[in-house]
Amino acid sequence: MRFSTKAIHAGQDPDPATGSVTVPVYLTSTYMQLKPGREGKYVYSRTANPTRNAHHVVAGDDIYGGTYRLFDQVLRNYGLQFTYVDPRSPDNVEKAVRKNTKMIWIETPTNPLMRVVDIRAISKIATKNHTVLVVDNTFASPYLQNPLKLGADISVHSTTKYLGGHSDLIGGAAITADADIGKRLKFLQNAVGAVPGPLDCWLVLRGIKTLAVRMDRHNSNAKQISEFLLKQPKVEQVYYPGLPDHPQRDVVKRQMRGYGGMLSFELKGGFRECEKLLTKLSVFTLAESLGGVESLIEHPASMTHASIPRQRRMEQGIKDTLIRMSVGIEDVEDLLDDLQRGFKGL
Ligand SMILES: *Cc1c(COP(=O)(O)O)cnc(C)c1O
Repeated sequence: MRFSTKAIHAGQDPDPATGSVTVPVYLTSTYMQLKPGREGKYVYSRTANPTRNAHHVVAGDDIYGGTYRLFDQVLRNYGLQFTYVDPRSPDNVEKAVRKNTKMIWIETPTNPLMRVVDIRAISKIATKNHTVLVVDNTFASPYLQNPLKLGADISVHSTTKYLGGHSDLIGGAAITADADIGKRLKFLQNAVGAVPGPLDCWLVLRGIKTLAVRMDRHNSNAKQISEFLLKQPKVEQVYYPGLPDHPQRDVVKRQMRGYGGMLSFELKGGFRECEKLLTKLSVFTLAESLGGVESLIEHPASMTHASIPRQRRMEQGIKDTLIRMSVGIEDVEDLLDDLQRGFKGL
């Protein structure tokens, strides 16, 4: 089966008990067992047993703020060590690997500057050094990029974004083809207890069925908007993996089948201009998050990336005049009209 067909049918067979075509929502915390001590397929969702590790991790320096916060403010307290490098140059990753490095963590394309990392090149370093490579594939979605096929061990998704696709749930998924890693993740999930509720799972299952058609529209809408932005005299710079002058164009072409719905741009002027544009739009909603059917726009320096100290933000190239868009699947003419009106007022 091909991608769009699998997205609709894989793992979503009709319910054997009732024939229900969609997966039913099982709102239960426990399941009846036929005999004591002999576990059925379903028993209970979680047992408690916190786990500690003492390992080193090499991570990209331009990763999702929440990931950075988890590494730096939570896991570091458990004895894990982190080194942050620019993984666009695989040499930087290679040099940062130590004897006790257990994991390399990258994200591509990155948020919000749409930088692209060569997954295949980093996976070779991971293999050579016997470490696990994790790729946060949230921005691309599995429709546009498959890290496991490029040598990654685990592909991570915020299902809140494109997989759910309708901005109505919070969830995540870690995908692996390695049976040992899979077993370990399953153990940790049960031990730690980070499990999604049945309704959230159901919403993700429903969202995935339309992933292919949604991504096609995200691709074409974002491409047209990137071209519109390039022509605006008030726009200093546009960041989008689909642009012919993207600095990692060759890597983009090798590992992505489309360029997605995320883009960002720098506006000429200062914060006032950003504020003016962002409050003038009516089809684009001023909000954080991404990957839903509706178009969202935001100002990273004061919103999604406000928790990063300004100095560090500047070093990463996230300027005060940067604006990020999650281009939705509305009629592109309405999106362009909205932007046209917004830019007129500047
Ligand atoms: C949103 C996001 C996350 C976190 O996902 P949640 O669903 O909010 O927990 C991680 N990585 C990337 C790239 C994201 O955009």
